[in-house]
Amino acid sequence: MQPRRPTRQVTLGDDRVGFVRIGGGLNGTTPAPISVQTMTTGYTHGIDKCVAEINRLTAAGAEVVRVAVPERKDTEALKEIIPQVRVPIVADVHFHFKRALEAVEAGVHKIRLNPGNIQDRDQVIEVINACKAAQGGRGIPIRIGVNEGSIIERKDKQKRLKELGAFFHDNKRGYLLAIMITKLEEYLDIFYEQNFHDIVISAKSMDVPTVVDAYTEISKRFDHPLHLGVTHAGPKETGCIRSVVALGTLIANGIGDTIRISYASDSKYEVEDGLEMLYSLGVRERKGAELIACPTCGRIQVDLVSLVQDVRNKVSTQIQLPIKLAVMGCIVNGPGEAEGADVAVFAGDRKGIIYVQGEKVANVPEEEILSRLLEECLKFQDKVKRGEAKLGEKKVEIIPPDPIGELGSGWEKAAHDHKGKGVSLTVGGA
Ligand code: SF4
Repeated sequence: MQPRRPTRQVTLGDDRVGFVRIGGGLNGTTPAPISVQTMTTGYTHGIDKCVAEINRLTAAGAEVVRVAVPERKDTEALKEIIPQVRVPIVADVHFHFKRALEAVEAGVHKIRLNPGNIQDRDQVIEVINACKAAQGGRGIPIRIGVNEGSIIERKDKQKRLKELGAFFHDNKRGYLLAIMITKLEEYLDIFYEQNFHDIVISAKSMDVPTVVDAYTEISKRFDHPLHLGVTHAGPKETGCIRSVVALGTLIANGIGDTIRISYASDSKYEVEDGLEMLYSLGVRERKGAELIACPTCGRIQVDLVSLVQDVRNKVSTQIQLPIKLAVMGCIVNGPGEAEGADVAVFAGDRKGIIYVQGEKVANVPEEEILSRLLEECLKFQDKVKRGEAKLGEKKVEIIPPDPIGELGSGWEKAAHDHKGKGVSLTVGGA
């Protein structure tokens, strides 16, 4: 992992919804944790549904929520939506700069502009001035979202394209990168002339190598925080891989200050997967249980796949602390893989043995594993909250259960076949 790239910091929010900082490390600021954003999928002018969706996404962990405002009725609706939610709201503005002005007036916390479709200099200046004066003069930030398809005209465009094209000549995506950076330079000039620096930059594409190259090059040239994303990533099943490969690579390289994973599906998955990615990279402190589970194999003697899903659903709503929880199909690799788990179950022949911080607490039939495991997790969580136990305090030194006796794992045959041959069953050999 590379150290995080320092940037200017921007802040969005208000006293009621709270404040979210993005980026940092320059000008005496402390870098903020990488935040997770998402976008609503319903119509913004459908006020009740929009509020319900924003609140559902906030409950899932979204720290910033963006809404589309294609029409006047959408920016009008913001006046009623914003007082009913508890998260900073971003207005996604395309084509009509007046939507940005209306959204600012309605109390939105950030504006996203697309240089590809709001290009008129005077209009951009009007939006900048409105954002400067917003929130009683405290101001709100603007994200400049350069997408693959955005185009900007400038007098020296061809000259600059040639310069940058030469720079990127050995990169097959060089021409696109040249256009993106050219557009950003021109657009940013308008902001700098107005002495406006509350800026976040994004440069999305649906192509993973292009996303990685674009953000890498932009991070070398500008000191504004970066909003990472892969656009049009597709359905969750494939979009997850596309997004996590691109964003994970950049974050591991120290690039990126806020993320939005985008799927053609319920936006709550964007939030859940974004958070999980940040937890997995170790750049965010985990909230809620960390679930470890074996992939199952021909040794399995319980319905582990269903058990894991049931455990995940239960702990996601009932466990608030980062308890490490292991659900293992058998003892072959179990103790090694579950090392460090606070709570663990090892399944055997339609039964499971449960451990809490290395201590065996129960041996229950398959149908009772879920309820007993949850009960032990809740009891352990309470003990931690009362200060009677510490997370990850005890390394799990599990003395593996006897596979033949306690777990009844059907290895009697193996033991029987090898009886008298001096064979012992050992842990960790699968
Ligand atoms: S060996 Fe055991 S722990 Fe490993 S995948 Fe198979 S059932 Fe799961």
